[in-house]
Amino acid sequence: MATENWKGVKVRYDLLTKGTRRYGEKLDGGKPQFIVAHDTGNPNTSAQTNVNYYENTYNIPWNSVASAHIFVDDKECVVCIPTTEKAWHVLYDAPTDNLWYNKDANDVAIGVEICYFSDKERSRKALDNGARVLAYLAEYWNIDYKTRMPGHQDIQSDKQDPGNLLQACGYGRNTSNLDKQVAKYYKKDVKVKVTPTSAKKGATTLTRDEFVKWLKATEGKQYDYDMYAAFQCFDYANVGWNKLFGHGLKGDGAKDIPFNAWNLEKFKEEAKVYKNTPKFLAKPGDLVVWGAQLGGGWGHVAWVVEATLDYIVVIEQNWLGGGWTSGPINNGTGWETATRRKHNYETEMWFIRPNFATKATTNTLSNKLKDKKEEKKITWNWKGRFVANTTIKVRRSAGLHGSVVDSNSWLLKNQWVDFVSVTKRNGYWWAKFKYPTNPSAGYFYCALCKITDKQERIKKEKYFGKINWK
Ligand SMILES: [Zn+2]
Repeated sequence: MATENWKGVKVRYDLLTKGTRRYGEKLDGGKPQFIVAHDTGNPNTSAQTNVNYYENTYNIPWNSVASAHIFVDDKECVVCIPTTEKAWHVLYDAPTDNLWYNKDANDVAIGVEICYFSDKERSRKALDNGARVLAYLAEYWNIDYKTRMPGHQDIQSDKQDPGNLLQACGYGRNTSNLDKQVAKYYKKDVKVKVTPTSAKKGATTLTRDEFVKWLKATEGKQYDYDMYAAFQCFDYANVGWNKLFGHGLKGDGAKDIPFNAWNLEKFKEEAKVYKNTPKFLAKPGDLVVWGAQLGGGWGHVAWVVEATLDYIVVIEQNWLGGGWTSGPINNGTGWETATRRKHNYETEMWFIRPNFATKATTNTLSNKLKDKKEEKKITWNWKGRFVANTTIKVRRSAGLHGSVVDSNSWLLKNQWVDFVSVTKRNGYWWAKFKYPTNPSAGYFYCALCKITDKQERIKKEKYFGKINWK
């Protein structure tokens, strides 16, 4: 069975037997035009369980058929219908997809089902995987996730998904909370190529806090420092050391790092090595090395991000052996990403503590003050009803850089919206509103007028319509 890696998620193809669920009909136009996000509505079921259920009922009668292309859970993603074929995941009668996209979802959209669990952490992992998969698909098919990735609940009034999933994660049910997760991965390369930095010899310019902040930002990404055997623990150690000192470390295996003669020469200026003892307290930013009892005799290495006398929390690669699972040794890949995990101290354990930079705080303090000063008020919670007297573009955020929604959803002459606030940006005043016909889609923005008044008073302007202030 073929496997792929979509932004760090293991993807398997387990295509359904052709029948009613997978009819084999191509999408209109041959490729997806938008994506509908669903949850399974069936807590504590895995992606494979759902696909198995489809396969066991692959030819279910037409009057009760439903299907989706993809299922994602906390471990993997399973594709059961190719994304260029039709699946039956939104009611044909639902009008909103036609209104927004001028098409029925089933004819042109990918349906992605995300699993959820009574265990919040599992739900969050499934959501994170789902967000990666959605970001991958949106990029692959050139779909703007901000405007062309509704939740099922947004286009079919009797549906509650993906709200069930979002709630299981402890978030609000609005699809915007899914968008926030997708934003973390959309057009962001999670497989990061490393370029050596030009750090000064033997000294890092980073403070401990800055470095730990950087470490935390690597979570969920994959690092192949030496272009050998994909995403090993040693690669991740090297990416960090390179970030600090502009070079990696040497050793046949991770266990050699504290003893390699070349490293020890470097450590004279760059770090201090500690052997673990019962009283030793690790610090965030330490590089921790396990001895030969791990990794088939190669040891293991990770970066500490949190520590007490009882345990350490690290970020690490390849703890589960998923760093390199497919492809050639010089250009392979794996499903495991840099992951945060709690470990016990071990007897055979060494901590390498980099000599971090120390910085005067005045600089950051003055920056903070500067930021504060530049935060000028631009939004006022003034409410009213706006009736357009011309066609007006609708955007997902206030300002000329807010992405524009599909033209079917623009305001037309004589259409009205009730706005809840006004924002001054890019030479225009913008209104924040919900569509009266579809409030569950969340807030949108439209320009009310160009700013011409010298004192920028909105009530002195000429609007693109009529405003009744409330
Ligand atoms: Zn659904």
